[in-house]
Amino acid sequence: MNLEKAGGRICSGKRASLPAARPFPVIQKVMASMAHLQKEKLQLQEELLGLQEKLAAQENDELSLSLQLQGQVETLKAKVLEQAQEIGRLRSELGGTDAEKHRDLLAAENERLRQEMKACEGELRELRRQQQQQAPCRDCHHLQENAGLQEQLSQLQREAEETRAKLVELDLEVQQKTNRLAEVELRLKDSLAERAEEEERLSRRLRDSQETIASLKSQPQQIKYIIKTVEVESAKAKQALCETQSRNQYLQEQVGMQRQVLKEMEQQLQNSQKTEAQLRAQIVMYEAELERAHGQMLEEMQAMEEEKNRAIEEAFSRAQVEMKAVHENLAGVRTNLLTLQPALRTLTHDYNSLKRQVRDFPLLLQETLRSARAEISQAIEEVHSTNRELLRKYRRELQLRKKCHNELVRLKGNIRVFGRVRPITKEDGEGPEAANAVTFDTDDDAVLHLLHKGKQVSFELDKVFPPQASQEEVFQEVQALVTSCIDGYNVCIFAYGQTGAGKTYTMEGTAANPGINQRALQLLFSEVRGKAADWDYTITVSAAEIYNESLRDLLGKEPQEKLEIKLCPDGSGQLYVPGLTEFRVQSVEDINKVFDFGHVKRVTECTNLNEHSSRSHALLIITVRGLDRSTGLRTTGKLNLVDLAGSERVGRSGAEGSRLREAQHINKSLSALGDVIYALRSRQGHVPFRNSKLTYLLQDSLSGDSKTLMMVQVSPAEKNTSETLCSLKFAERVRSVELGPVSRKAELASWPSQEQLEGDSPGSAATPGRGHTSHSPGQLSSRSASIRRKLHTSGKLRSVPL
Ligand code: ADP
Ligand code: MG
Repeated sequence: MNLEKAGGRICSGKRASLPAARPFPVIQKVMASMAHLQKEKLQLQEELLGLQEKLAAQENDELSLSLQLQGQVETLKAKVLEQAQEIGRLRSELGGTDAEKHRDLLAAENERLRQEMKACEGELRELRRQQQQQAPCRDCHHLQENAGLQEQLSQLQREAEETRAKLVELDLEVQQKTNRLAEVELRLKDSLAERAEEEERLSRRLRDSQETIASLKSQPQQIKYIIKTVEVESAKAKQALCETQSRNQYLQEQVGMQRQVLKEMEQQLQNSQKTEAQLRAQIVMYEAELERAHGQMLEEMQAMEEEKNRAIEEAFSRAQVEMKAVHENLAGVRTNLLTLQPALRTLTHDYNSLKRQVRDFPLLLQETLRSARAEISQAIEEVHSTNRELLRKYRRELQLRKKCHNELVRLKGNIRVFGRVRPITKEDGEGPEAANAVTFDTDDDAVLHLLHKGKQVSFELDKVFPPQASQEEVFQEVQALVTSCIDGYNVCIFAYGQTGAGKTYTMEGTAANPGINQRALQLLFSEVRGKAADWDYTITVSAAEIYNESLRDLLGKEPQEKLEIKLCPDGSGQLYVPGLTEFRVQSVEDINKVFDFGHVKRVTECTNLNEHSSRSHALLIITVRGLDRSTGLRTTGKLNLVDLAGSERVGRSGAEGSRLREAQHINKSLSALGDVIYALRSRQGHVPFRNSKLTYLLQDSLSGDSKTLMMVQVSPAEKNTSETLCSLKFAERVRSVELGPVSRKAELASWPSQEQLEGDSPGSAATPGRGHTSHSPGQLSSRSASIRRKLHTSGKLRSVPL
């Protein structure tokens, strides 16, 4: 009840402080569980009481029933006694046989009564069964136990009852048998007495008769008659005596039998008494068991009661603890509430202000959007103007760059000459002929010295690659030229030199170590990729061969067909080769395919490739066309990679026929190339491009602001020194063509022919140039260094003394 009070207090407390809040759920739960437990306890107590009452009523019923039965048994016993008496009376009246008949009747009556008793017992059992069936609340655990115990009790009682009934039956039987025995004894005594009386009477009558006979004998006639009568009567008496004797005999037999029966009955009685004693002991035992079961049931009920009380107490104490915790919680909540109230006030305030802000937000947003739009469009405008400005600057820069480049080219000369010395190979053989005749200047990579006929001749070029220089190193020096064709410049790279000096190696290289051709294309691809954001580029390649002054397409379907170089009909003055195949290439795989294709053509057309290739000029023409997407600017740059025919002097050895013709063609074309380069470098008004197919074809790529690189290949072997000397002379002459006014003066000067080159001997000073002048390495390096310094400081090339 404390709980209820506490719950009430909590609820009222809540109502006082939190009128709108719901009742505290924990208190409600505890109160509900307490009420439930209380109700359960009451219910159990009621059930217990009901059960006890039922048990008592049942016991009372059983007692009254047993009393009733006992009464019935008593009356039956009285009846039996009465019947026995009646039997005795009848026996005494009717004699043995009738008495026995009556006894049978009585026995039947007895049997009927027994049946009645059995029926009564059946009724009793039925009654009990009904009581058991009416037991309420079957599912209850206690009731089930109780029912079990009741069942046990009733079982024991039934057994006791049965035992009692058996006892009564046995009593009855004993009684009957005793009665019958008494009867039989009585009848026996009666019969004996009767027989004694009869004997007495008969002996008396015999004596009377004998006396009568004796008296009659004394009265002859009468007496005789009387005797006769007596004799007759005596016979009758004798017969009667005999009958009586036989009857006596029968009765004696009967007595014997009855005695036997009596003995048996006595035996039976003894047995019955024993059984009775046993049954009584059993009854006592059953009763004790019953008592024990009853006690056990009471104990269990007690224990259950205790357990229930304990559970109630535990629940109560738990509820109290929970209540305490709830109280504490409540106190905490109250304090929290007190502290939260100001926060709530600020939150409400914030909420209201936020609500106001949200209400104003669309307007604010529109305004912000408007201003943002204005800002963005302004920024876009600014960016546009900046872009325009940048574009303008970029174009200006481009022009400036081109101008600077042109200036640089003008200063440096747009024709550059490199020398490359191949290593001594197996083909050079052994011995003094294969000895190395070329040395280098460790301080100046533009100088090399050739030991020719015991004299050292020094040459200065733009750059000299020693035998150990790798393909990569060579290409590094070349790549600036290659990339300039992306910017729209035309570039020519020539490999010049005698057969076997390494021209093809430098230009084509090997599969594992490719030369300028393949590297140039790879570089172009990567450069183009880098510019792909602003530029669209297409790269196409053509491959051609000039043999005996006829041009052939190496990628065409008809390689034997001779192609012509023609002027563009648009009047631009540009040249083009109708029918020259152009392949668009996009990857290294494409290049390889093109090269393989070109090689196959050359191989199938020629019986001896090496021989043939050394007698023809091989051209790889790469065209790079670009479109600047932002400016619409279009550029076209051409990169001509030329593996020239061998420069060796064949004609001198008196070659004839086709060999001589080949030699003449080669000589002519190489001289023409020299002439053109000379004319270009000396800025002559007329450049004799048309003197050979090669120069005519490359006219575009040699004139204007085009760039040319002459890679002069030489062999270091002692046996090749004269050819090496020729090649180096050619290189130095190309390189040392004077620029500026002096060169203009020399407009009509002609490039020395191959023959002239042959004729030059070191130190002869017959022709201009200093290639044939012999210098000590020290002298030369200091001289070349001074030339360079002058070039750098003056900003333009000065005339070099010839
Ligand atoms: P060319 O084309 O001038 O007739 P090649 O390029 O065919 O001469 O070269 C002739 C031989 O010399 C080839 O076997 C080549 O591999 C070799 N050779 C040329 N230059 C070099 C070099 N720089 N390094 C190694 N071997 C070279
Ligand atoms: Mg070659």
